[in-house]
Amino acid sequence: MVIIMNTDATTQNIHDVVEAIESVGLEAKIMEGIQQKIVGVIGDKTRMASIAIDAMEGVEKSVEISKSYKLASREFHPQSSIINVAGVKIGGGNLVVMAGPCAVESREQLLASAKIVKAGGAQLLRGGAYKPRTSPYSFQGLEEEGLKYLAEARELTGLRIVTEVTEVEAVESVCKYADMLQVGARNMQNFRLLKEVGRCNKPVLLKRGLAATLNEWLNAAEYIMNEGNQNVVFCERGIRTYETYTRNTLDLSAVAAIKHLSHLPVIVDPSHGTGKWRMVKPMAFAAVAAGADGLMLEVHPNPSKALSDGPQSLTPDNYMEVMRGVKEITMFLHKQGLAIDTL
Ligand code: PEP
Ligand code: MN
Repeated sequence: MVIIMNTDATTQNIHDVVEAIESVGLEAKIMEGIQQKIVGVIGDKTRMASIAIDAMEGVEKSVEISKSYKLASREFHPQSSIINVAGVKIGGGNLVVMAGPCAVESREQLLASAKIVKAGGAQLLRGGAYKPRTSPYSFQGLEEEGLKYLAEARELTGLRIVTEVTEVEAVESVCKYADMLQVGARNMQNFRLLKEVGRCNKPVLLKRGLAATLNEWLNAAEYIMNEGNQNVVFCERGIRTYETYTRNTLDLSAVAAIKHLSHLPVIVDPSHGTGKWRMVKPMAFAAVAAGADGLMLEVHPNPSKALSDGPQSLTPDNYMEVMRGVKEITMFLHKQGLAIDTL
């Protein structure tokens, strides 16, 4: 259940509502909307029957939430959320691009990538320091050394940093260097990891699991939010289907579904979604038209020499070309009033 407050509700009104909820042994969570404050009720909602919450001063109405995920649902928070990543706003019509190599391979490779990423106009630099590789014999990442190169690249370019955290033990260290923590597809249902990133104060990019339903994905976000961290951004990166030509099947319909079911922003990763650099441009363009709040693109100074995911990585020239189109399409959609927000 959520309690939607009047636009002119006072701090005292909100305090009284929170107190009433807590008086019956439930937890109250205040969420700030652009115009209205909303108070979420967590726990057994039958206990609310003993308080006349709708009659309290400052209350517009109470709404039942039918879903197993609450904090992530649009019922809970009707306005689309804007997630602030060290000053870069994701959601609310801002198209944010996160680009960079699959893995941080060396200082030279990362700094060269950062320059390319910056020149193309992306706002965040991506790059894995902890790599969840399919084979234990593949390059596993530079770990903390890689995080230091990412932080150096931020100093040099002003790009914000998003990087994956693969285990609970690494959360503190990744938090120290990154502006946004990435939970990868393979860890989408690692509930201990979700809870741990939910307790830190950095926004989280939550990738869709390899075979996760939308409901499972939304509940994964709920795990993070329930620990106190409301700053979650979804990333559709393709799912396993019977198709083998592409690495995954990019489910662009998930963008529309998430926008309907949740107030949180959703971005699209056409690199992992297809596994083929040639398909990144058309899928990136389609994602923008579908209403994605951003893109994640793999770019490498020399994809043929990449230690991971070379076949899906854009060359610097191809990246520039994708970015040019993405900017044009975004401008066109806004100018024509065709940009999709809520559904
Ligand atoms: C990545 O973005 O580096 C990555 C490993 O992606 P995913 O978790 O989507 O496979
Ligand atoms: Mn990759």
